[in-house]
Amino acid sequence: MRIDLHTHSNRSDGTDTPAELVLKAAALNLDVVALTDHDNTAGWVEAQSAADTCGIRLVRGMEVSTKLNGASVHLLGYGFDPDHAGLNAELDQVLESRERRVPRILELLADQGMEITLVQVQEQSGSAAAIGKPHIADALIAAGHIEHRDEAFSGLLDDGGSANVEKYGIPLARAIELIKEAGGRAVIAHPWARESQEVLSSEAIAALVAHGLDGIEVDHNDHELSHRAELREIAATLDLAVTGSSDYHGTGKSSEFFLGCHVTAPEEFERLFG
Ligand code: AMP
Ligand code: FE
Ligand code: FE
Ligand code: ZN
Repeated sequence: MRIDLHTHSNRSDGTDTPAELVLKAAALNLDVVALTDHDNTAGWVEAQSAADTCGIRLVRGMEVSTKLNGASVHLLGYGFDPDHAGLNAELDQVLESRERRVPRILELLADQGMEITLVQVQEQSGSAAAIGKPHIADALIAAGHIEHRDEAFSGLLDDGGSANVEKYGIPLARAIELIKEAGGRAVIAHPWARESQEVLSSEAIAALVAHGLDGIEVDHNDHELSHRAELREIAATLDLAVTGSSDYHGTGKSSEFFLGCHVTAPEEFERLFG
């Protein structure tokens, strides 16, 4: 069984349509793939019908933008009710905040001689329900200011970058509770990547168990090997499920993040969804 529990389509910042993504996963002999676009479930229906066509099992998911002590933390929610009112009220705030920050980011870019318009960004975000920095990066590429998304995330749009503007994130404990109230499973995405590492000590992770946390993503390209070993121990101590996933974004991220580059053990999948 090959199980990949974290991927993005062009409903957020990936480059494949949901159907293309699911068909690629099946062609690569994955048995299970989760679609986890940022802060929206707009790709679920298309992904499900593609999965029904090719016989792969789809887990319907989402990567939720949350905050803990001011730092950005990504939370994977799986199998929840997409019509849950409390969850959607919070997601609406995140999506609005994503929209609201774009003109401010464009001003900061213009100050640095990289002029692009909102329309140029919208041309790139076309099919996405959640507009994000990667679409701004794509507009910078199309305008000839940079060559690749990576360049936009080294000193410009990344946290602490010269054109960075923060967005709203649902308080992490609340986000876990909402996913659970909506009947889903909650797994912290790449806990020790970027700024989340600073706030997610083993004690902080332990405190989230009481709010309903089900697991942590351990095998992920943003985690160095020694950290994966430490995180596996933390999960064992706290009786949390351990997942492994690609965080595939099509051509929107470096090719190291290919579908199935990390997978989740069948027994861990059973723990979460059995
Ligand atoms: P946002 O969701 O708008 O806050 O933008 C953050 C997103 O940018 C993350 O979810 C990543 O998928 C993406 N990202 C971060 N670093 C890079 C990079 N070096 N290349 C491409 N995408 C990136
Ligand atoms: Fe992303
Ligand atoms: Fe993430
Ligand atoms: Zn992701």
